[in-house]
Amino acid sequence: MATTQTSGGNGKQAAATPPPATAREQLASHDPATGEVVGTVPVFSAADVDAAVARARTAAAEWSALSYSEREAELARWRAALAESADELAELIHRENGKPRVEAMIEVYMALSHLNHAAGRAEKALRPHRVSPGLLANFRATISYHPLGVIGVIGPWNYPIFTPMGSIAYALAAGNTVVFKPSELTPLIGAKLGEIAARTIAIPNVLQVVTGAGPTGAALARAAVDKIAFTGSTATGRKVMMAAAERLTPVLMELGGKDPMIVTDDADLDKAAEAAVFGALTNAGQACISVERVYVHEAVYDKFVDKVVGEVRGLKVGGDDGHLGAMTSPQQVKIVEDHLRDAVAHGAKALTGGPDAISGSFIQPTVLVDVTPDMKVIREETFGPVLPIIKVGSTEEAVRASNETTFGLGSSVFAGKSARELADRVRAGMTSVNSVMSFAAITSLPFGGVGDSGFGRIHGDEGMKEFTRTKATAEETFALPINLMTFKLPKGTYERIRGMIKTLYGDSPVAKAQDFLRRLF
Ligand code: NDP
Repeated sequence: MATTQTSGGNGKQAAATPPPATAREQLASHDPATGEVVGTVPVFSAADVDAAVARARTAAAEWSALSYSEREAELARWRAALAESADELAELIHRENGKPRVEAMIEVYMALSHLNHAAGRAEKALRPHRVSPGLLANFRATISYHPLGVIGVIGPWNYPIFTPMGSIAYALAAGNTVVFKPSELTPLIGAKLGEIAARTIAIPNVLQVVTGAGPTGAALARAAVDKIAFTGSTATGRKVMMAAAERLTPVLMELGGKDPMIVTDDADLDKAAEAAVFGALTNAGQACISVERVYVHEAVYDKFVDKVVGEVRGLKVGGDDGHLGAMTSPQQVKIVEDHLRDAVAHGAKALTGGPDAISGSFIQPTVLVDVTPDMKVIREETFGPVLPIIKVGSTEEAVRASNETTFGLGSSVFAGKSARELADRVRAGMTSVNSVMSFAAITSLPFGGVGDSGFGRIHGDEGMKEFTRTKATAEETFALPINLMTFKLPKGTYERIRGMIKTLYGDSPVAKAQDFLRRLF
């Protein structure tokens, strides 16, 4: 059996999903801060991916036959083992992704909170329930939810366990098995999830991890799975959808974002500034729900900018006690530098950091002002430690500018009394009110976007149902003398039905009474 070799951390070897039986290509994972090789994993070929899916299919028969409480117990064992390995997990995240250790530990905590929630919630979320049978009063109408089978999960590198866990935990709790392809930049932490699952979940192959680069992900998108849950860039999401279309495999797309924050003239500025700085700079800005644009009312703009700059000047980049770690990949550094140079060339001013404050994989946090809507930092996902602040003349203008994007993932509003109403006017899947990113930490809230940010939802009951097929059952409880589902209709049925249509749905007292009662209750 192939093994995942890890160096550094605790220096242990982690077993990856079988096979591969033959000698094969290896993929090295690097520490972005030092360039050091953290470990290697085997590259799974298309045939290996298909074999993993076949094993997952066999496992699905047994896994789906368990009761909810039996599955909950299995998942609880996996959760407990992950929790016991929290230091090792956080260290691997820190080393592969570059984020500070404390952020890595918070990621472990959030991932486990979803696993805990999904396992405990599945039975309630997926309980069959009766609905009104309408005119077929002699029927019992029931909606029930059933596992799809095998779910392919493709994950990104920025939150290498929190993000995929948002799909994996809910898919497993709903009775599916999972084949997970982690990013080539963070394969060791992905393999570790699979290894711990393999030794704690009694049924083999309930969660398998197939490591490799883009082609391994492409093979999973083409494989005979029942759904693909993809998290990554909008560009790759399009490719995955096209590949999945071959088999009509349904897809769930969690893609990029360009999240706006709105700060009105009656907002708590201290709170808003602190939130903007955290929201834009946590994980060095490499979050799909990073604050990427802040629209501030002109009456409080200067004060807000001063507060933000003050906060940012207090941050440290790199080192054991740094607030910002290394960027995860050189490609991402290039994108951020390109956005910063484009902004400065077109008249933006960097109040901190800037395009020349980049050293290797470390970027100094940059507060940008005098930005315009045509700049890359406003149009495209930057995914780096950059905080553009834009002055607006009114709340109306802030809402309009916030919605002028093809993305629509997260958002936040800082305001007085109007905050809640304002939140509903932002075109996005999620909005935090007088806080930032909080929607992602509430396990029962659905997570997902609109437009180029994707579709479908993870987390919460909606996220659980994404991994089920909805079954409608109509069951006759007693026979009525009138039956329309037969060819043996009595004479005069046409006239009787026409009369019923007019009585029930036309301009009749019965129809009006129905409308009145509906409005009342
Ligand atoms: P990518 O789109 O580059 O990669 C995502 C995953 O897809 C990786 O595992 C990648 O593998 C794999 N992949 C690459 N090519 C293919 C292919 N042709 N077919 C199938 N899979 C493929 O995204 P990043 O990893 O760069 O992640 C950052 C992006 O993810 C950002 O845009 C961010 O906004 C978004 N994101 C969205 C979230 C959400 O919930 N909406 C949450 C977190 C991030 P490999 O890495 O090996 O190339």
